[in-house]
Amino acid sequence: MRCLIISDVHANLAALETVFRDAGQFDIIWCLGDMVGYGPDPNECISLLREYPHVCLAGNHDWAALGKLDIRTFNGDARAANHWTQSVLTQESYAYLRGLEPQHVEQGYTLVHGSPRQPIWEYILDPLTAELNFSAFKTPVCFVGHTHVPVCFYLPEPSDDHLCEPRSPRYGQLIPLTSGRWIVNPGSVGQPRDGLPYAGYAMLDTENHTLEHRRVEYPVEVTQEKMRAYRLPHRLIERLALGH
Ligand code: ZN
Repeated sequence: MRCLIISDVHANLAALETVFRDAGQFDIIWCLGDMVGYGPDPNECISLLREYPHVCLAGNHDWAALGKLDIRTFNGDARAANHWTQSVLTQESYAYLRGLEPQHVEQGYTLVHGSPRQPIWEYILDPLTAELNFSAFKTPVCFVGHTHVPVCFYLPEPSDDHLCEPRSPRYGQLIPLTSGRWIVNPGSVGQPRDGLPYAGYAMLDTENHTLEHRRVEYPVEVTQEKMRAYRLPHRLIERLALGH
């Protein structure tokens, strides 16, 4: 089975449409959360995702939209965008978001938004944090989102004297997931933060156990134009063009 793995769409329809076009053939979508928040198209992104067979998790911004978490930890721009999102979400979108869980095991793969230890909140940005999380899930591979940075953390097995290794994505190359254990972040569709303003995603082949990170250029200005029209915060508009 070919799984299209996406995360952190953040209501960016132009980016999501581009990823779906670029991905080619796939059987199912695994979405690791944060469908909404920051961007201008929350209802449209949810509707488009629902046209495909998919599994979707809840992220911290989805919970914020539902009023399920305290947004005092959000910065001012994220809070402003959250209020705007709440004001435009349809009852149907709310109902959909309410049905999402922050973690899930699918076909022998663990899926979480943040980390296996703290599915909503923890950011896995470094090998030490990754290493501490390997004991919190049982499957060989766990997919995470939340940081908006594509990466793999590889733990050789047996791991007695081996430490977890971070591996930067090599776009267009297949990574065999057949040995050791892995924490994989596909990057962000709608708000990349690694300095590249391209939508990020990953393709998983569950028969061959291979993974491929991909990036694709999308019309950033289409999303920015809508955000200006809705008077979303200036810094959230500018950062899309910079990829951070
Ligand atoms: Zn996010």
